Amino acid sequence: MWRLAKNILPTRSNLHKKGITLDLLCPLCSSEEESSQHLFLKCDMFKLTLFASHLGSHIPIDIDLHDWILKWLVCQDPLGVQLFCTLLWKFWAGRNAVIFNGWQMDPTFLALDALSFVQEFNEANPSRNRRALVSQSISEPSRSTCTSMNSMFVDAGCCNSGHIVWGLVLRNLNGETVFSACKREDITAEPLLAEALGVRWALQVATDQGVNSVSIYSDAANVVNCINKRSNFAAINLIAQDCRNLMAGLGNVSVMFISRTQNCDAHNLVSLAKVVGSRTWLGVAPLVSVYSVSAAVPAAGCNVFSCVPAS
Ligand SMILES: [Zn+2]
Repeated sequence: MWRLAKNILPTRSNLHKKGITLDLLCPLCSSEEESSQHLFLKCDMFKLTLFASHLGSHIPIDIDLHDWILKWLVCQDPLGVQLFCTLLWKFWAGRNAVIFNGWQMDPTFLALDALSFVQEFNEANPSRNRRALVSQSISEPSRSTCTSMNSMFVDAGCCNSGHIVWGLVLRNLNGETVFSACKREDITAEPLLAEALGVRWALQVATDQGVNSVSIYSDAANVVNCINKRSNFAAINLIAQDCRNLMAGLGNVSVMFISRTQNCDAHNLVSLAKVVGSRTWLGVAPLVSVYSVSAAVPAAGCNVFSCVPAS
């Protein structure tokens, strides 16, 4: 991380600056010069690795690498930060294995490898682990404290094909999942817009299902802030207004932020939507493995699906 932050990783671009003559193209995708910016923001292989991980696949458009890393390092999600940093490290190690050992790059493997590393590390360091769990229990809208409200969790993602996919889960006052849905649409949209459309969809579902008292959770802080009029994003202002109109039609509704690691049920449905398209279920959705997608690996507290689209 330190070498990345200082931009002194021996990428091909940095080696070239030191006067070494070599092929400058990215060894993973061959689409452009291999710099840190390319490897960790633009390279399709990195996007797939992030996509396959528990963190989802949202690299902000036009963000500077340092700004993006800093955002992660200061975010209030200790497990997410751990996984993010481990992913970067594993990806760099994977890139080296490709160059020096002829390894075939495998984003799903890297994502799972990073996750098991984090789990193993936390098991071996219970004090760190406890701190992470304590902060998780503070930020999680726990089932026990949500007894007066239904909870709806929503998430968005995108397929390699350009489709936008969403997933949502409705839990009743006892924390039981009573309704699950996933949706796929043949539209292209920036992540911010996709997430905003997801929250609007959740509000529509709440309206359709006659759920008047509900807390809606999204892991897109910008969308939540925009709907709650704490910030302003031209790209989603109209959708945010739609959301407020829908909220006005419901009895007791709020839209709140939740960290990605705590939005795993909705995230898993995003993965499922890539496979099954638009579906709804009463209760819990069947495991994605039912639809014969490779490697559904159970992780701590939730099921992590392989997020690489079925080929
Ligand atoms: Zn590349």
